[in-house]
Amino acid sequence: MAELTAYEGNDAEASKATMEKITSLAKRRGFVFQSSEIYGGQNGAWDYGPLGIELKNRIAQAWWKEMTQMHDNIVGLDAAILMHPRVWEASGHVENFTDPLVDCKKCKARFRADQIPPENLEKKICPECGGELTDVRKFNLMFKTNIGPVDDSSSIIYLRPETAQGIYVNYKNIIQSNRMKIPFGIAQIGKAFRNEIVTKNFIFRTCEFEQMEMQYFVKSGTDMDVFEDWRNQRWSYYERLGIKMDHLRWHQHGPDELAHYAKVAFDIEYLFPMGWRELEGIHNRGQYDLSRHQEYSGKDLNYIDQDNNNERYIPNIIETSAGLTRNLLMVLCDAYDEEKVADKGDADDYRTVLRFHPKLAPITVAVLPLMKKDGLAELAQDIRKELKEDYSTDYDQAGAIGRRYRRQDEAGTPFCVTIDYDTKEDGTVTLRYRDSMKQERVPRAQLAAKIKQCIKDYKRGQ
Ligand code: ATP
Repeated sequence: MAELTAYEGNDAEASKATMEKITSLAKRRGFVFQSSEIYGGQNGAWDYGPLGIELKNRIAQAWWKEMTQMHDNIVGLDAAILMHPRVWEASGHVENFTDPLVDCKKCKARFRADQIPPENLEKKICPECGGELTDVRKFNLMFKTNIGPVDDSSSIIYLRPETAQGIYVNYKNIIQSNRMKIPFGIAQIGKAFRNEIVTKNFIFRTCEFEQMEMQYFVKSGTDMDVFEDWRNQRWSYYERLGIKMDHLRWHQHGPDELAHYAKVAFDIEYLFPMGWRELEGIHNRGQYDLSRHQEYSGKDLNYIDQDNNNERYIPNIIETSAGLTRNLLMVLCDAYDEEKVADKGDADDYRTVLRFHPKLAPITVAVLPLMKKDGLAELAQDIRKELKEDYSTDYDQAGAIGRRYRRQDEAGTPFCVTIDYDTKEDGTVTLRYRDSMKQERVPRAQLAAKIKQCIKDYKRGQ
């Protein structure tokens, strides 16, 4: 029945995901649009379209479940983006959250001093036009604005550059309200803002983005074991999401890379089309954050260990800090494939397919009537209604069935259900699998359960 039946393997050259292909597919299919596009676009900001928001929500849900539901001692939080300005003094962001910046006096190009060849910096020569460069100056990445009607230094407020501080300032509240005992964690997903100088590579580095951060509070002395445990857990998480493991690696921060707060830091890097780049950081932040907030707020932030003679101490913090929007880019790149398929009787052809884990796919099931007529469309709508309760569904009755499968492949829909004349006779439908393009007849009554099992058993490449 379907036009696409034979699978002839991958063509290595054609399978290559480039940033241009990903960006163009993302726009074409409604994953990600440029912000304010009709006005020429806003640098560093992107909008998530109908498929993009579904994918982003599912990535967030997978992370949230992993952190909270699967860990008895981790709870959630949603702190405000606007925080007391003293928070950013205590955290060290006002003083240290800077990039070294140089400008070209001639062509006006702006560079991060650590990203241009050292000889250009030394001789103050612009790498673009050969013009003269300015001295290096520190550029703070925090967005500053004013709150209230008065526009002076007393009304300065920052858009948070990370979600972590919202967790630290609530750590005592959460211990008290939820009777948490060390070790315990607090997880949060939310927006963060950084005035990034270089924002190329699509949504990789943006000025407005989302983070998924978990801060784990432990007693000093146990911190390195817990740190190693979290490194293992975060690695295994990506493996369970079906990410290509040969596209992931560890990078340990050397002494001059370590952030002002960090004791030890490892990044999980992903092989993006432009090369290996940070996906998530796992940091041992020591006692830095809570000690600083204790000092700046004047509030006692010691943990009191009631099971141990009321011993008082400032906990160490192990942080896992992942970009949600950067994860979305990673998932898109990782899922992207072009594959040679042979149409029945036709010449060789290619299909573009997004091999998302079914848990992450924006649409789980597409319902397709073979024809609009003879009651097949109504029957298909009926079946869609049954599936809606459990799955996100799509319905498509336009064009040849082979072309409709291709459209779903490109959106990463793992299952298509086709309704034909036999469905009317014997109540079976065709279930078509995105990755293998295999098809099988399944009784309508067993469809929802069958899909559920397939999602549970899903292994990449099968
Ligand atoms: P970089 O050195 O790349 O600027 P960072 O080391 O400062 O990043 P962290 O502060 O550790 O990054 O942030 C944790 C995570 O948040 C990163 O691993 C990344 O996934 C995400 N992230 C950070 N900055 C951005 C950004 N500008 N756009 C999108 N995601 C970001």
